[in-house]
Amino acid sequence: MRSRNSGARGKRALAVAGLLLGAGCAAATAPTAPDVDEAIALLEAWLIPDPAPEVAGTPDHRGRPRHDPFDLADEIASLDAGEFVVLEGIPEPREPTPLAIHVTGTEVLTVGDEPFVAVHVAAAAGEGDRVAGLFPIEPSPSSAPVATGHAPAGLWVSGAPFFNWSDGGSYRGEGAWRTVAPGAVGDDGYSCAGPTADEAAPHVYPECLALYLGDDSGRHSPIYGFAADGYPVHGPWADLELLARSSWRLRDYDTVGSATGCTEGGRRTCVLADPLDPTAGTVPALSPGPTTADVPPGAFFEDFWFDIGLDDGAPHALDAFNGHSHDEFGYHYHITRIQNGDGSFTDVFPYILGPWFRGELRPGDPHAGGPRLPDGAATSRLPEMVEPPDEPSPPAEPPALCVPRLGICD
Ligand SMILES: [Zn+2]
Repeated sequence: MRSRNSGARGKRALAVAGLLLGAGCAAATAPTAPDVDEAIALLEAWLIPDPAPEVAGTPDHRGRPRHDPFDLADEIASLDAGEFVVLEGIPEPREPTPLAIHVTGTEVLTVGDEPFVAVHVAAAAGEGDRVAGLFPIEPSPSSAPVATGHAPAGLWVSGAPFFNWSDGGSYRGEGAWRTVAPGAVGDDGYSCAGPTADEAAPHVYPECLALYLGDDSGRHSPIYGFAADGYPVHGPWADLELLARSSWRLRDYDTVGSATGCTEGGRRTCVLADPLDPTAGTVPALSPGPTTADVPPGAFFEDFWFDIGLDDGAPHALDAFNGHSHDEFGYHYHITRIQNGDGSFTDVFPYILGPWFRGELRPGDPHAGGPRLPDGAATSRLPEMVEPPDEPSPPAEPPALCVPRLGICD
């Protein structure tokens, strides 16, 4: 039971990478030496706890030790730099399990000159093993962040994909008011016993995975998955009893004269010229949306704006991408929820990661050619992102967001 580094397996890995990248993209090359320490740290995150039967209905695993039910620790320890490594031996999850899709293996492979972790998954119903994701081992911030778009934005460590805020629709199909995925999965009557529980709500907090991981309010959440740019996605907790805080806020349509509202109270007749900067003002909407009496704020992407004042360096503050950097974690995203007065939770925009990826995407990634954030957009108070306070500039173009079905990708 050691890692196998045979040439045959290396060739298989290359073939898989080539298929995934498709025509016209960077081709897989001969293996070079990945940073083995980085690779090990990344691969360990895919070691999810043993799904004991009581997990499905019992949220109480506080303090449960993390262990290695798949016997991957030895495999990972034997990683050799300069070789492809195929990790095997991940068994079927026990039944019952909330996971219809599951990770069957991981491997490090080199595409171009960059090392990636390839994650293999299979669905429970006899689906063959396939590569579901290629994640940069060394994520790097992008100088021109790309919209999270409609392809899967990443994978949970269960192997199931997750998506961005959008459900692909818009009010009356007119494209002006783009609907966000239903925010509330909620705790009421929600069961993790079904075979596709989390997969049925891929835009928000994956409740069953949280149970699986034993995450609670007692510490900084563990890694729940990885975004396509390679940055990890942690659960909702930034620290003990402290939820990570989205810096995206609802527009105030109802107060006449509010900076984020329109001329008539309660009406959706205008959109923000730049949702990252409300001082840029509003522009008329392509078509009016429903009144706030009919549909309360929060139903549409255009209902939100980024409040840079909330990205204030507090331990739970997040930037426009829904991430931050602290302690030993490096840059990472957080799933965002709020806790209500009765103790229940509500998932809040942008739910998992922001409307844009913070990091560079792999060449060939379905998002890589997508709409980009305008130059100079104020997305964070991180020192390197703060612009010098010079002369006023004209209002920025509204950030483009790709909704292919509506033909507004360019
Ligand atoms: Zn954090």
